[in-house]
Amino acid sequence: MQISGSNELVEQILKNDLCVACGACVGLCPYFKVYRGKVAMTFPCDLTQGRCYAYCPKTEVDYDNLSQTFYGKPYQGSALGEYRRIAASRAGDKMISGPFQNGGTVSALMTLALKTGMIDAAVLTDSDGLIPVPRLITKEEEVVQCASAKYVASPTLSCVNKGVEEGYDRIGVVGTPCQMTAVAQMKCNLLDKADFKDPIAFTVGLFCTWALDFRTFVDFLSDRLDLSTICSMDIPPPPAEVLIVKTADKDIEIPLSDIRPLVLKGCSVCPDMTAEWADVSVGAYEGKPGWNTLIIRSEKGEVMVDEAVKEGFLIVDELPALNLAHLIQGADGKKRRARENIEKAAAGNDSERNKQPAVTENWKMSSFQ
Ligand SMILES: Cc1cc2nc3c(=O)[nH]c(=O)nc-3n(C[C@H](O)[C@H](O)[C@H](O)COP(=O)(O)OP(=O)(O)OC[C@H]3O[C@@H](n4cnc5c(N)ncnc54)[C@H](O)[C@@H]3O)c2cc1C
Ligand code: SF4
Ligand code: SF4
Repeated sequence: MQISGSNELVEQILKNDLCVACGACVGLCPYFKVYRGKVAMTFPCDLTQGRCYAYCPKTEVDYDNLSQTFYGKPYQGSALGEYRRIAASRAGDKMISGPFQNGGTVSALMTLALKTGMIDAAVLTDSDGLIPVPRLITKEEEVVQCASAKYVASPTLSCVNKGVEEGYDRIGVVGTPCQMTAVAQMKCNLLDKADFKDPIAFTVGLFCTWALDFRTFVDFLSDRLDLSTICSMDIPPPPAEVLIVKTADKDIEIPLSDIRPLVLKGCSVCPDMTAEWADVSVGAYEGKPGWNTLIIRSEKGEVMVDEAVKEGFLIVDELPALNLAHLIQGADGKKRRARENIEKAAAGNDSERNKQPAVTENWKMSSFQ
């Protein structure tokens, strides 16, 4: 795998509209900045190799290397990635309540990870109105302040870089699948540094089908309602096909067909729905509001979930076979669509070029098949 520098990151990813604003390149050096959801390089840098390029989930990802590193075998390309167990879950009685998106599993696990000292800081996503705000927190009670999903791309991983800079060395991270791919690459010492230390102790991935571009979403919503009245948003599992915007006095349903044009172009070539490189992955539970679907992938993830159940932070139940079948179908569909979109963009069809990001030559279509 060719690891290049910041100039190639700009040429291949930013200029081709593949950036999904994950934040992994922000804060590593003084040059990459993010403003209102857009990442830019503000000064030139002449390093031929950089962590910015190595971590970016939109440059070529060596899935075999990740799989060998974390699971000791080549990447299989299965719908859900490697896992030990899949279950249903929700926060238990010992977890303080909060504005959880679904069952509060994510907040419960991060709260317990801080409480037990498994992690010394957590990288989460808060919000200021509609804009997602990355946060580096160290206190258990701060976790619920960041509960709920912000369906807008967030440069959350900039806070991992901030945490490392501040000396934290057991950081917990919650993020989308692209962010978990970047974090997995941060854990791999891709630049072969002699003094490398993995600063990440625990990762919780979120299921994700797409995220919205902050700027276009704000323009879209401000034509329809007063943005300052928005409390939260939800996308109920299929077949609802709506985004629900909750304000103080009413819920507004927006058809997903109206929203899809606002999705980041980089999402159209994203093959991962369930955060395959996280210790555990969490999503909605189709047909059971207030619960989550939980995928336990690593040994560390399993120990953490068992501890959370024992301590009353988590309740775990069986996931019905039909839900698992739907999950596999959804994840398979996302891989297939990503493959088709890469093929269309690579074929250079002009009408498709307007809809898809230009895919650079170093993308291996076979890498996630
Ligand atoms: C952009 C996006 C798309 C999603 N798409 C799907 C989907 O298609 N299917 C599905 O089943 N689930 C999806 N989810 C996950 C789902 O919305 C819930 O986050 C998940 O079920 C966990 O629920 P919870 O109650 O345990 O979370 P909570 O306990 O409420 O915690 C939510 C956590 O999410 C983090 N977070 C919020 N917004 C972001 C963001 N933009 N980027 C990174 N981290 C964030 C916060 O730090 C918080 O810790 C998506 C989430 C996001 C952010
Ligand atoms: S996808 Fe992430 S790492 Fe890549 S350019 Fe965008 S913000 Fe930087
Ligand atoms: S669809 Fe993929 S690229 Fe887009 S936000 Fe979700 S995980 Fe990231």
